Amino acid sequence: MSDFSKYKFGTKAIHAGAEPDPTTGAIMTPIYQTSTYVQESPGKNKGYGYARGKNPTREALQKNIAALENGKHCICFSSGMGATDAVIKLLRPGDEVITGDDLYGGSYRMFTKIFENYGIKFHFINLSDADNIKKYVNAKTKLIWAETPTNPTMQIIDIEACSKIAKANNILLAVDNTFASPYLQNPLALGADIVMHSVTKYLGGHSDVVMGALVMNDDKLHEQLYFILNSCGANPGPMDCFLVMRGIKTLHLRMERHCFNGRKIAEFLKTHPKIEKIYWPGFTDHHNHAIAKKQMRDFGGMISIVLKDADQDKTFKIASSFQVFSLAESLGGVESLINHPATMTHASIPKTEREKAGVVDNLLRLSVGVEDVEDLIEDLKQALA
Ligand SMILES: *Cc1c(COP(=O)(O)O)cnc(C)c1O
Repeated sequence: MSDFSKYKFGTKAIHAGAEPDPTTGAIMTPIYQTSTYVQESPGKNKGYGYARGKNPTREALQKNIAALENGKHCICFSSGMGATDAVIKLLRPGDEVITGDDLYGGSYRMFTKIFENYGIKFHFINLSDADNIKKYVNAKTKLIWAETPTNPTMQIIDIEACSKIAKANNILLAVDNTFASPYLQNPLALGADIVMHSVTKYLGGHSDVVMGALVMNDDKLHEQLYFILNSCGANPGPMDCFLVMRGIKTLHLRMERHCFNGRKIAEFLKTHPKIEKIYWPGFTDHHNHAIAKKQMRDFGGMISIVLKDADQDKTFKIASSFQVFSLAESLGGVESLINHPATMTHASIPKTEREKAGVVDNLLRLSVGVEDVEDLIEDLKQALA
């Protein structure tokens, strides 16, 4: 099998990129744990020179992720932030970026603390109304960086509407697709130029690897981003690539269960007397539910809640009283996690900025795992009691 475009998602997840090993027929791609490759004479090699640039295990994984996003090229990085860093390095001093005001905390930190020092300007705006973007577009605008659903308030950004504005103004559109995973949403098909994943989350799926990926169709863009990977060195190791390939084989099964459990828990929490507010794009009264329905296959297992009449102490007490959910950063693994964004994932955002975007001290974020949902609901009941 080499052309995967005609297969459905689950078939691609299991088979894309995985060719039997040419020397033994091993069905699983070997972990090519090597830093260099022997040459027959100087410059005469089998297409592999040095492992920062190329590694067969990594290539198999890249083919797989490209197939899942219906993209032509994929480049894997040592982390999601490594992948994001490469995209911003396409820019020059003086260039401007339009991005969301409800962004992964680490992306916000990189943009403001690293790249603003290099003369790149970032506009953090509300992207849930795409027309807002037009007010910030000028001749220096080179990139729109959108994350959808957003973290942690689960806003939905209209990817197609962003892409229309980007194309009309010759701006690149990059979408952080981490929360949705390729199972729920494929931004390239909606007009994005680059899809970014924190592979650490749903793609890896087992909380045992940190990795990132970029997917794109354009050959020139691929060449530029690959040049940055090979020059700057944020390449992942082969063992991690193997683990992610193994994880992806059940991505569709896990996502089905994440979505099923997510819905049950969202419905349970919506009427719970201790909950003031709940963020989940599957509710028909969610601000952009119609867009979520249009661009996503289902609504996922990420849910945020604001606790009623809870100060930070009370919120901490509840966050620490779960027995099945674990209190931890990260998301998208098989095990359910609970997180306090204000002091954990989003601690690097100044309090006033954070609260403007709804990341208040009594907000908790749930990454609903694939356990039995009855046990998760019982755990929520006792922790909120
Ligand atoms: C975790 C995460 C990142 C960063 O990825 P790492 O693999 O942790 O470097 C970026 N965006 C989103 C939405 C994330 O959840």
